[in-house]
Amino acid sequence: MSVDIQCVVVGAGVVGLAVARALARSGREVILIEAGDGIGAGISSRNSEVIHAGIYYPSASLKAQLCVEGKQRLYAFCDERGVDYQRLGKLIVATDERQCVALQTLLEQGQRNGVDDLQWLDAGQARALEPALSCVAALWSPSTGIVDSHALMLALQADAEAHGTSIAFHTPLASARCTEQGFELHIGGAQPMTLSCRELINCAGLSASDVASRIEGLPSPHVPTAQLCKGSYFSFSGRAPFRHLVYPAPESAGLGVHMTLDLGGQARFGPDVEWVDHVDYRVDPHRADGFYEAIRRYWPGLPDNSLQPAYSGIRPKITGPNEPAADFIISGPAEHGVPGLVNLFGIESPGLTSCLALAERVVQRLAP
Ligand SMILES: Cc1cc2nc3c(=O)[nH]c(=O)nc-3n(C[C@H](O)[C@H](O)[C@H](O)COP(=O)(O)OP(=O)(O)OC[C@H]3O[C@@H](n4cnc5c(N)ncnc54)[C@H](O)[C@@H]3O)c2cc1C
Repeated sequence: MSVDIQCVVVGAGVVGLAVARALARSGREVILIEAGDGIGAGISSRNSEVIHAGIYYPSASLKAQLCVEGKQRLYAFCDERGVDYQRLGKLIVATDERQCVALQTLLEQGQRNGVDDLQWLDAGQARALEPALSCVAALWSPSTGIVDSHALMLALQADAEAHGTSIAFHTPLASARCTEQGFELHIGGAQPMTLSCRELINCAGLSASDVASRIEGLPSPHVPTAQLCKGSYFSFSGRAPFRHLVYPAPESAGLGVHMTLDLGGQARFGPDVEWVDHVDYRVDPHRADGFYEAIRRYWPGLPDNSLQPAYSGIRPKITGPNEPAADFIISGPAEHGVPGLVNLFGIESPGLTSCLALAERVVQRLAP
């Protein structure tokens, strides 16, 4: 069977859903194709569910711009659609004088990025907010929050469908070919078929590079090598004595083993950093040792045997362990020369926070 459609979005994670919604709202006819049997089964359901403020990222990077803009859009969207969230605020803590220098750098970086509500707290002020904390200073970020990511995706799906988007599950894109009119898509799975479309947006998360490498006509220098960086979480049994999110001063490939709360007030710790060569979401219970050590630097009262393996997620990185962190890549016709094609690569954190802003950028990249 062959079907002709204006716009095909690949991948029904939070980014693909937001992109399909934005394209449908711009008046396009959109099909969102998803290899799995439902929305959000990939990275989008294996993260910290934090609405980030936009503090950490290099000035003028897409991560900085889209996080700050995305945060505002996301809070407004959640208010409008009744998606559950809490603007809990977060403390980033320095546990020695050396880390104070790192915190000062973060404060300045956040301010350059347009996060204008950060406050420097001394140890007493931090402990007034969180009495169980041990630290010499902290940064207070009042605009950081948490969101029900599944409810967010359902709301994006509903809005996309209300604007005419069709979602096809069990529909893996196997390969594609650039044609004069756009693209010929070969769908694999149980019911193989061919689709043709004028615009193709690759939001395949961990598989984005693999999908892009199967597009005949896209020059290979425009396809970065995917690198997988796993992050495991441990849940805390019992009630943790915190009301706000608590992050250590950041580490190399992640933000450090932090404490987040879910909307029910349950604490979990993570994610840690483990470079892997394949997808395996099992959590190794032995990794708990590193967690106790990292957490006790800022919460000395963490009881023995209180952490249970919870879940893991995998960061879709495009640079490796010894390389500087990469920015989000939105690779459109201006970059690779193929009209109508946009590939999204390296959409790791803060991709959830940024989804609505990312989607707007995709629409802009497709403008003639
Ligand atoms: C450990 C961890 C913690 C994080 N914490 C946060 C956080 O607190 N805040 C934040 O803002 N961000 C966070 N992020 C980042 C955020 O989760 C991601 O940026 C976001 O979920 C990416 O969504 P996505 O739609 O690009 O990918 P996904 O959700 O993985 O969706 C991609 C979809 O594409 C589908 N697919 C793949 N190949 C094909 C194919 N060939 N054909 C059809 N479909 C295909 C997959 O099945 C999948 O459903 C975190 C990420 C990780 C890993």
